[in-house]
Amino acid sequence: MAADGQQDGVLDALRDIQQTQQRLLSSVESLTSKLGSSALGSPALDPASKLPVTPLLLESDKDAKQKDAEASAVIQSFENGAAQPSSALSPSSRQGFTSRIVLTTYPKQIGIDPLQMDWGNPDPLQRGPVVVSRAASTIRRRNAIGGSYSIYYALAVASKELDVDHRPDYTNTEPAAKIGPFPQWGDKKKIVAMDPWGHLVPWTFKDIMEKENVDMRPTIAITKAHMKLPELEESVKSGRLVPDGKVCLNKLGELAVTKFAVEPVWYLPGVAERFGIDEATLRRSLFEHTGGSYPELITRGDIKVFLPPIGGLTVYCFGDPEKMSDESVRLSLRIHDECNGSDVFGSDICTCRPYLIFGIEEAVKEAQNGGSGVVIYFRKEGRALGEVTKYRKATLFTQYPRKVVYNARKRGEDRASDYFMRTENIAGVKDMRFQALMPDILHWLGIKKIDRMLSMSNMKHDAIVGQGIPIHERVELPDELIPADSRVEIDAKITAGYFTAGKRMTAEELQSVQGRLWEDIDH
Ligand SMILES: [Zn+2]
Repeated sequence: MAADGQQDGVLDALRDIQQTQQRLLSSVESLTSKLGSSALGSPALDPASKLPVTPLLLESDKDAKQKDAEASAVIQSFENGAAQPSSALSPSSRQGFTSRIVLTTYPKQIGIDPLQMDWGNPDPLQRGPVVVSRAASTIRRRNAIGGSYSIYYALAVASKELDVDHRPDYTNTEPAAKIGPFPQWGDKKKIVAMDPWGHLVPWTFKDIMEKENVDMRPTIAITKAHMKLPELEESVKSGRLVPDGKVCLNKLGELAVTKFAVEPVWYLPGVAERFGIDEATLRRSLFEHTGGSYPELITRGDIKVFLPPIGGLTVYCFGDPEKMSDESVRLSLRIHDECNGSDVFGSDICTCRPYLIFGIEEAVKEAQNGGSGVVIYFRKEGRALGEVTKYRKATLFTQYPRKVVYNARKRGEDRASDYFMRTENIAGVKDMRFQALMPDILHWLGIKKIDRMLSMSNMKHDAIVGQGIPIHERVELPDELIPADSRVEIDAKITAGYFTAGKRMTAEELQSVQGRLWEDIDH
């Protein structure tokens, strides 16, 4: 029958394809092994082809084979010769790598045995450690992917500055202050962007680290230090700040501070929820827009924790750290997003450093009065759009301010909103700081209310209040601390919705406010 004939034809075609594929595969194998041996011995070839082009397993490297024996169980997809890696992917045992590349893993793969991760469990041992290392002894046990500073780590390993088997010595690195545990640490809705047990890793999970040879690292560190800012010496001179020998140590305005450094650790379902999206959408976007760097975002749905390679935060606590969580004393807080040009290099066209210094001074005063003063510094340069975008925008305002103003007037539009529109034109978004994850640190510190919020930002305010932490008073930057050339910035922000106890200018009034430059208008 005709149908039978058709079926035979299809089968024949399939057999043909199969045979062709087999011939192709054997040719590829033969070619790759020839290329591999000649490339190894031929330094004259171009840099890319110097990398050995070999099957995944280097038969000659017995050491690497042994070291890799444990991890080999999790390797798949390329092992059966169904495909060969390109030369650029081929591993080299000479560079301290194992002899096979693990491209990705799957939950039900033989050998995959992730350590328990029950995010939000109040008992750290029940919760489980965050394990991200791909070291041979640990790769099967991972329950997290990514890694802060992982790009620099990769460079250090590749350039042989760092032995991949190096394990840190945690002797005498215990946190310099006790913090928590607080009930918030056991609430998977309240903390989704940091590991609440991150400062205690080497001690809480000592047994697992030692007995099961699992490589894990702290993501929080706590230390005590002194700090000195020239403006605070002026504060003492002018009598605004009085040295007490404890918080403000002397007439130079030196301060005693407890610092908490925190690297981001994201619990993906919780992060997705904060942004009002589903976990799969978040995973897909992270995968795509990191150049496909983390395939396990897609293949390992069982891994819920991701350490994004982005900047973290630092808490500067003045006074006794235990008072931060004490509801019976007052708390002053400044949440500050990085502006390197102003914060460090003193650029006078925005209010970033003045507000930072004001925040520190007010925090110190609160601590001196028996309360607690906290400044939290987030690495989110230029609204988390980066300095390149920020400077492009600044150039626009610096070189064409009249044009921007003229256009706004001509169209009769609100100038303040026009500033934000300019940002959107360049970056595609007004702001990428996304304060939704910011309040986690407050929950971690045990903060339940804020008496004085040293910020005018409506986004920060709304994020904190939205997380159930009331703000009793919002404090503006005093006029005398605003540099003349950044008046325009602050007025634009106020008109666009920032907090003020004073006058909110109309768009028309705002037109009369002129600064020398229009740079840094909205970070
Ligand atoms: Zn700034």
